[in-house]
Amino acid sequence: MKKIFIPGLALAMLWACESKKNYQTEADTFISDYSKKYQQLYTVSSEAEWASNTRIVAGDSTNALRTRQANETMAAFTGSAENIKKTQALLEHKESLTTLQVKQLESILYRAANNPQTVTEVVKKRIQAETEQTEKMYGFDYKLNGKSVSTNQIDSILKAENDVTKRLMAWESSKEVGKVLKGGLVNLRQLRNETVKALGYDDYFSYQASEYGMKRAEMMELMRRINQELMPLYRELHTYARYELAKKYGQQQVPDMLPAHWLPNRWGQDWSSMVEVKGLDLDEVLRQKGAVWQVQQAERFYQSLGMPPLPKSFYEKSSLYPLPPAANYKKNNHASAWHMDLEQDVRSLMSVEPNAEWYETTHHELGHIYYYLAYTNPEVPILLRGGANRAYHEAMGSLMGLAATQKPFLAQLGLIDRNTPTDEVQTLLKEALNYVVFIPFASGVMSEFENDLYANNLAPADFNKRWWELAKQYQGIIPPTNRGSEYADATSKTHINDDPAQYYDYALSYVILFQLHDHIAKNILKQDPHATNYYGNKEVGKFLTSIMQPGASADWRKMLKEKTGEDLSARAMVAYFEPLLNYLKTQNKGRKYTM
Ligand SMILES: [Zn+2]
Repeated sequence: MKKIFIPGLALAMLWACESKKNYQTEADTFISDYSKKYQQLYTVSSEAEWASNTRIVAGDSTNALRTRQANETMAAFTGSAENIKKTQALLEHKESLTTLQVKQLESILYRAANNPQTVTEVVKKRIQAETEQTEKMYGFDYKLNGKSVSTNQIDSILKAENDVTKRLMAWESSKEVGKVLKGGLVNLRQLRNETVKALGYDDYFSYQASEYGMKRAEMMELMRRINQELMPLYRELHTYARYELAKKYGQQQVPDMLPAHWLPNRWGQDWSSMVEVKGLDLDEVLRQKGAVWQVQQAERFYQSLGMPPLPKSFYEKSSLYPLPPAANYKKNNHASAWHMDLEQDVRSLMSVEPNAEWYETTHHELGHIYYYLAYTNPEVPILLRGGANRAYHEAMGSLMGLAATQKPFLAQLGLIDRNTPTDEVQTLLKEALNYVVFIPFASGVMSEFENDLYANNLAPADFNKRWWELAKQYQGIIPPTNRGSEYADATSKTHINDDPAQYYDYALSYVILFQLHDHIAKNILKQDPHATNYYGNKEVGKFLTSIMQPGASADWRKMLKEKTGEDLSARAMVAYFEPLLNYLKTQNKGRKYTM
């Protein structure tokens, strides 16, 4: 191209350059001040939340009060009108800022939307309502035959009991909590919606989806697509389960839809305990190894890939095992991983018992912990210390959970004998009853319900009706008895109360997990995806670390494409279970399909 001299242009360019620099300096100062304060408040808030979740004393509201105050202070800061104004002003000069600065400023606005100062009263009420809901949920006294039971005990009944009447009682007991939580959810729906509307989001669901750079409708479309991709396989599993369970419980009639209390999980989201793979009785081996071994083993697995040992404080400060029966307080039994200070203080809250389910959960939670540690580095600013998106964070641990249950790995660990013949189809079936069965629940029932709840103003009188309509449509599951509108069975699911409108994260995480696993097996290990052994492979560790290290400073779409060569799709998941489809079709020959 020919150069044309335009008088004054050079000067103008110089000016532009100068002001560009000015905006960048201004942004730097603002972001750095904000981050310092944010990190400090975040730590205080985490400590308070930690106490609230690990030490629940009936009638004592000290922890709840402390949590509420910490969260209110945090909310006042992140939602301050001054911060919002400053951020918006800087974002008006996006083109003069670096990509990393823009990302950080956008994350400041995203945080602000949850607590904008313009609606202080609403935010205050919401935080109070959230704390109360959590306390009610975890403090709930589940009763069976007039005696208190833990949810772990209910789960055990649903997994092992063959007497349908006893199953029904356990299942019904698990749903009683809904009556106590329903009012709180109605209130929270309104408060959550009102909060984010102040910064221009249509509703809370839209707000949550925006973290992926997606509109609500796009997210729902994606959910429905994933469901469809897996439906042919789910239909076979559904038919298989109806007939097998009817046989197991000695029922003459095979029902068209699965009664909820027949399934080995309170929400029918995981049926894997239906199948026992011969030669692969993990529960029994793990019982002998013990809960402590399980946690240490999970750490060894990550370390074998070249990842660092966990900080000493992890073991000192985490709450990893069930409370002794004599304890005069309760704790939250739902597994979680915490990044307390956005630096090295990482903890996990679990109730690890020596069995296959907790074995996998332990690997999952450590996945979060290693993700935290990986992006805690000088390259990643405080505000971007998060997953590439929320689903990546979930995918990492689930991936390791899957890898940790494959036969060559288990054999190397000595948990099974390498020469024990195992039934590959049964193994695959067991996996499908976990991973595939989860999809209609997560991307269907949960996502559609919360979409209706937050965006479509679902009437409280219809909460239960809608919940069961969706369960029938997506999972082919019906309630065992008539569940009137006094119940709110959806609220028995923790996330409905305290992780609102983001359950699709888990569906996406499974999809991503199979994409990553497929790539690792075929391109790094050169092994069959059904029989891998990640143990000790530093290349695999490098691959995973390269995904985790940039945290949220990376673009999740580009990352997936770059790392796996693919866009987001259930292709790898469908391919993984392909061999099972034919097996199930043979098993189901002559059986009636009802989905
Ligand atoms: Zn998780």
